[in-house]
Amino acid sequence: MRKRRERIARMKHCSILSLVPLLAGVLCSIGDRLGEFVECNRVCRVRRGCEQHGGEGAFPDDSPFAAYTFVDTPAAYRALLWDCSADCDYQCQQAITHQRLLAGEPPVQFHGKWPFVRMLGMQEFFASLFSVANFVPHLQGYRQLRRELARAPSVGGSSVLLRKYQSLAVVGMLAWISSAVFHARDMPLTEKLDYFFAGATVLAGFHALYIRVRRLDLAPTRRRCFSLAVLLVFVLHIVRLYRNWNYTYNMRFNICFGLLQYLLLLLQALQNFGSLRRQRQKAGLGLYAQQPGMQFQLVLVPVLLVLYTGLAMSSELFDFFSYHWQIDSHALWHFLTVAPSFMLYDFFLKDYRYLNTLSSHSAPE
Ligand SMILES: [Zn+2]
Repeated sequence: MRKRRERIARMKHCSILSLVPLLAGVLCSIGDRLGEFVECNRVCRVRRGCEQHGGEGAFPDDSPFAAYTFVDTPAAYRALLWDCSADCDYQCQQAITHQRLLAGEPPVQFHGKWPFVRMLGMQEFFASLFSVANFVPHLQGYRQLRRELARAPSVGGSSVLLRKYQSLAVVGMLAWISSAVFHARDMPLTEKLDYFFAGATVLAGFHALYIRVRRLDLAPTRRRCFSLAVLLVFVLHIVRLYRNWNYTYNMRFNICFGLLQYLLLLLQALQNFGSLRRQRQKAGLGLYAQQPGMQFQLVLVPVLLVLYTGLAMSSELFDFFSYHWQIDSHALWHFLTVAPSFMLYDFFLKDYRYLNTLSSHSAPE
């Protein structure tokens, strides 16, 4: 059933910086319950012969949609799995929305989504486009980390953090690809993939940040135990969703680990603040003195990232939609997370280099 979900589903995307979901979903949308929408779908399915989707039978001649022209699904759109029933649903959403706009009434949601006009066969063109845009910083982050890894010593724990961040970048890329596909074509399979990778992303972020904050990169046995525990949580999460697809549970899971990520980022900033202050107090030696911008890069940036992302996410609270621009608050939110994702990987690298510099100076953390 595709009712009820997107309002919740859309709360869960996707990267480490776009996570903490909002509050509650809706059971179904106003548009679904409109008599004219139900009637329109019935007439369309009969007229177009969507046999397996209630297209049998007839409709009365006085039906308001009896004379309405329902067009056949373009061949290219059929390749994107727009079947007869889904296409009728889409055409009826547009028909009802046009009627409402002509009557001076506001558009309403259908199946938890605003009535977007398809572009290139995609349901939510801009949300899909911005999901692709979010892929880019993770790809760039992955490449930066790979270059850094090539320069890192092959022994010792110094490369562990880089590998964890790299794993996060890979999962992030997969998650944003899933998001782009899901927004392009919302179907049970694309939705499930999107959910699974969203769960993987929050856990990968939590995993990497916890290892950094607790310095488990220097404690291999504890790190492996922790990694196994996180992997177990992910497996149980997937099993839970597989056995019982529950939107509220999924939302709570992502909120929980999303908030933990934010907390860990703030802790990381706090640790750096203390460390930099100690360095500054060491007269003459001065990592801090050597690199005066580090207070900003290592302390303020993570705090700003958390604050900015929290504010950007609040745009979802307004749940606005412009039929003219074909943009809603969710698409806007995806747009707003692109830039901070670049900053996140930059921060990870600077933080890693700082830790390395500290250890090379044998300065206690
Ligand atoms: Zn989304």
